[in-house]
Amino acid sequence: MGAPNSEAVAGPTARRGPTVDRSTSSPSTRRVLVLGGTAEARALAAILAAQPATTVVSSLAGRVADPRLPVGEVRIGGFGGPAGLARWLTDHHVDAVVDATHPYAARMRVAGVEAAATARVPHLRLERPGWTAQPGDRWHRVPDMAAAVRDLPALGTRALLTTGRQSLGMFLPVTGVWFLARVVDAPDGPLPAHVRLLRSRGPYTVDGELALIRDHRIDVLVTKDSGGALTEAKLVAARRLGLPVLMVDRPAPPDLPAVVHTAEEAARWVDGLPPGQPG
Ligand code: NAP
Repeated sequence: MGAPNSEAVAGPTARRGPTVDRSTSSPSTRRVLVLGGTAEARALAAILAAQPATTVVSSLAGRVADPRLPVGEVRIGGFGGPAGLARWLTDHHVDAVVDATHPYAARMRVAGVEAAATARVPHLRLERPGWTAQPGDRWHRVPDMAAAVRDLPALGTRALLTTGRQSLGMFLPVTGVWFLARVVDAPDGPLPAHVRLLRSRGPYTVDGELALIRDHRIDVLVTKDSGGALTEAKLVAARRLGLPVLMVDRPAPPDLPAVVHTAEEAARWVDGLPPGQPG
């Protein structure tokens, strides 16, 4: 993970340092910070980077070792909480913030709203919709990860666990269940014998998910309600095989002034903002 307040940057147009040189931008270029780490954030960065009147900076937490980088300028690492982000917005003359972080990035979501209010910068939340159960689905919805840990043993004995590295530790004490834990990066330290790690990153196909489930004799799927097409195939596979799905609900959202669901809608919102101020 990146250090708080780190100014690590990446990408062909990356810049270093706490201040922004506006000399290469036109006087009315709008500067947009995209809080990223999702496919939607990358899609938005690509749209905004193609607009001459907009400069886009994408921010990543630095959670994964080899992140998919968006087009344009990228900074990596935490800001040091809402106050640090507010400072960053002011120091970097940001004209608007689009929070396109993952639906389960609960802290960043709140920090983005608070920081934008402090820095008096317009804020938009870009969040993909959750999944909707289809006929034949056997979903067991739970409000949080602790409830998933509690309910899992009643649903199966061989789990495909896709809730990510950060929640893996909560499942380790569960007894009577064997885990195939699919993660992007391996967690630190050894894992107990009843957990097998599968390092991989989507997108996934239905055929691939069917094979994975059959090969490991999986009888229950544990997942967040991440939404989107990239990781949906596991739900289709579970439906076809009649498997129960333990679905961990999204954290309750903060009070958000403006929310859209697609990168195109977010780009239109940016387009409707007043032009950037001369630096
Ligand atoms: P989180 O719990 O809401 O955030 C924890 C801290 O990480 C934040 O307080 C912030 O540190 C830093 N942070 C988070 N997102 C950041 C960003 N885009 N840019 C800079 N700093 C960021 O978030 P998380 O659940 O750990 O997710 C971290 C990142 O992974 C996010 O970018 C998210 O979009 C992506 N992601 C998360 C999930 C998931 O299931 N949670 C899945 C896929 C991708 P400071 O307080 O120091 O500013």
